[in-house]
Amino acid sequence: MAEPVELPNRIGILPFRNKVLLPGAIIRIRCTSPSSVKLVEQELWQREEKGMIGILPVRDAAETVSAGSMLTQGADLGDKSSKNQTGIPASHKLDGKSQQEPIHWHTRGVAARALHLSRGVEKPSGRVTYTVILEGLCRFSIMELNTKGAYSTARISPLDMTKAEMERVEQDPDFIALSRQFKATAMELISVLEQKQKTVGRTKVLLETVPLHKLADFFVASFEISFEEQLSMLDSVDVKVRLSKATELVDRHLQSIRVAEKITKKVEGQLSKSQKEYLLRQQMRAIKEELGDNDDEDDDVAGLERKMQAAGMPPNVWKHAQRELRRLKKMQPQQPGYNSSRVYLELLADLPWQTTSEELEFDLKAAKERLDSDHFGLEKVKQRIIEYLAVRKLKPDARGPVLCFVGPPGVGKTSLASSIAAALGRKFVRISLGGVKDEADIRGHRRTYIGSMPGRLIDGLKKVSVRNPVMLLDEIDKTGSDVRGDPASALLEVLDPEQNKSFNDHYLNVPFDLSKVIFVATANRAQPIPPPLLDRMEVIELPGYTAEEKLNIAMRHLIPRVLNQHGLNSEFLKVPEGMVKLIIQRYTREAGVRNLERNLAALARAAAVRVAQQEQTVVPLNKDVHQISSPLLESRLAEGEVEMEVIPMGVNNHEISSAFRVLSPLVVDEDMLEKVLGPPKYDDKETAERVASPGVSVGLVWTSFGGEVQFIEATSMIGKGDLHLTGQLGDVIKESAQIALTWVRARATELNLTPAEEGGNLLEGRDVHIHFPAGAVPKDGPSAGVTLVTALVSLFSRRRVRSDTAMTGEMTLRGLVLPVGGIKDKVLAAHRYGLKRVILPERNLKDLVEVPAAVLGSMEILVAKRMEDVLEHAFEGGCPWRQHSRL
Ligand code: ADP
Repeated sequence: MAEPVELPNRIGILPFRNKVLLPGAIIRIRCTSPSSVKLVEQELWQREEKGMIGILPVRDAAETVSAGSMLTQGADLGDKSSKNQTGIPASHKLDGKSQQEPIHWHTRGVAARALHLSRGVEKPSGRVTYTVILEGLCRFSIMELNTKGAYSTARISPLDMTKAEMERVEQDPDFIALSRQFKATAMELISVLEQKQKTVGRTKVLLETVPLHKLADFFVASFEISFEEQLSMLDSVDVKVRLSKATELVDRHLQSIRVAEKITKKVEGQLSKSQKEYLLRQQMRAIKEELGDNDDEDDDVAGLERKMQAAGMPPNVWKHAQRELRRLKKMQPQQPGYNSSRVYLELLADLPWQTTSEELEFDLKAAKERLDSDHFGLEKVKQRIIEYLAVRKLKPDARGPVLCFVGPPGVGKTSLASSIAAALGRKFVRISLGGVKDEADIRGHRRTYIGSMPGRLIDGLKKVSVRNPVMLLDEIDKTGSDVRGDPASALLEVLDPEQNKSFNDHYLNVPFDLSKVIFVATANRAQPIPPPLLDRMEVIELPGYTAEEKLNIAMRHLIPRVLNQHGLNSEFLKVPEGMVKLIIQRYTREAGVRNLERNLAALARAAAVRVAQQEQTVVPLNKDVHQISSPLLESRLAEGEVEMEVIPMGVNNHEISSAFRVLSPLVVDEDMLEKVLGPPKYDDKETAERVASPGVSVGLVWTSFGGEVQFIEATSMIGKGDLHLTGQLGDVIKESAQIALTWVRARATELNLTPAEEGGNLLEGRDVHIHFPAGAVPKDGPSAGVTLVTALVSLFSRRRVRSDTAMTGEMTLRGLVLPVGGIKDKVLAAHRYGLKRVILPERNLKDLVEVPAAVLGSMEILVAKRMEDVLEHAFEGGCPWRQHSRL
């Protein structure tokens, strides 16, 4: 590069369309047009020594000629132009004739030498092509251009300075300053580029070795600059001009690189948080992969997909699930909605679309045994369940009614349902409906709500993960409806065999088949259950237990279970029958056995504490020592003052535990009952004490806890004849009170309740106040009618009601006693309270068949047709009126 190039006088010219070859630059061109092929052939290919051609920029005014295919076209145009005579003036029309296709030849070009030449395969037509790699050497200017021959030629003169000229210029302070500036800028560019790629190191060497004015061309040739700028660079014959132009271009290039860098940095800075997280996650994934750690989000999704595939969804659900999965895959884990979508898909995958638990080969006898072993008594109920199961056995698809166990708490409704499941070999799931007021609790919330969830049924099915469980709808009478919809209507759909094939949970949003589920319901009372719902169910009543039944249940079922639950057995704790009876009498007064169980559990806990203490202090016992010291130990244990015993050497653990096992059991006695359960809560004397004064009567009512004994108190005081009622009363019971008062007033004289001189007006100068104690419990219903009258008669006659007699019955204004409901529960309640006599409406006699014979046998049942009959039975020695008349 450094040595000056000898230029020939004449040179073959290759027109270079809209492009400039600068000295120092290297280009590769394919020559296809006849003129350029000819040029290459004659000037380069056929020459012995290295030939040279001139590359001359041409500018085509016609916009259509593109620079991209310039070589061919340029050559073609060259062809046409070769016919024309050349004119010299630079950059203007050289050819007068070709006005339609004006071609502007530049007046300055660059001589080029071929670095590499290759000849293409000759075509059948005889045409050949050449591919030439050319290096620009030095500038020349055209003295005369001839376009007539096979290719253009020109007479040229060199434009580069001679050595002497160059040396002179190098002394020029302007040139020196310019050189320095160029060098500095070029250096800067190189170092910027160096940061980006390591290969620029060589460019630095060039900077030291190559003359700067040549380097200026070399640098500029490597930039992408406009044709105009390239031309002006070519025209910068003066080295000072060239250097300053090159400096400007290099600087511009530098700036553009810097700006680009800045922009990139800014953009990087603006990477949103999520993008950053994404990048970090990618890195984390890479790390996990390295560690062979597979619990990756992607794997998770793949796992989820596998789970979904295995779930056996019906085709329409599967389609829906896949759509959702595709959506999930497109989301970033931290994107809102990702989680909810995922949770939803997990639910779809977890639901038992196909899974069923193997139904046992159904054996009625085994089922009966199972029911008997789990439950004492309840013969009728068990019989009904066996019938139900028998029908299912004969016709598995039969749409039998839904069983609904109705009864007070703790009578075994839930445990009966779970026994049904066990007898059928199905899984059991309990759905509590108590207090459910929102339809969404049953049907779920739509997924558009934040925190939406599936309803309890779908949730329950997910938990049991079979589609044919026994599902207990617990406390179905406790659902209510309000503005949030009516859960009962959703339950209707659930229990309807026609509709529950495609139960629609709002959250799930695809139908689920509930027809394989066996539904069983429980309720405390049938009355609050909406009639359409009740219509779908078969009510089986469980009335509550007598003391005798409770005793049996406790001895056979509750005590063994409670002991087991507390890690004890009968070797540690014994509860004699007599003590269980006491617990039933003194500490519980319920229809079921739940409190009884609780009390037994309290005893077991206390025993557990003792045994545990014993373990701490007495463990180091040896069999032999134990035999002697056991009674002593027992007594000390009770006081809690056992001291450390001496441990004989060589006692191993096995011996210790066996020594422990033969310790005499703790036997519950009355003392322990009081210590653990506190003073007795109930006793038989309560009624006697409460009816000790006139104006109090004993009624029987029916609540959701079964039958109850209810006292009614009446009193009178000076007033204006008003009736006051207290004790959380409903409208019906208030009316009953009015009726009762009216009846008593109307018969005041007949009953001899007022002295004749008062004109028969009972309320003359006085008010009556009737109170129903247990003021916290709301009361309503007509069955207190007879009790109210009895209380009033007792008040006005100043005679006490019998404390062993309870009563129930509705009364008409004319004194007829009408039948009421819940007789069985009421009689049982009276029995629990230790009452001996019960007055019932005559037409309720038929209901007594449901009352256990043992209870009936120990009580006197008195029937009443009219109010007078009730009064006759309620007072000692008969109705006060009779007594008066006897007098
Ligand atoms: P409910 O559902 O009616 O409120 P549960 O079924 O929960 O009552 O019963 C309460 C407890 O009493 C359970 O432990 C149950 O096993 C027991 N139980 C109730 N009735 C009987 C019975 N007839 N035989 C044996 N255990 C019973």
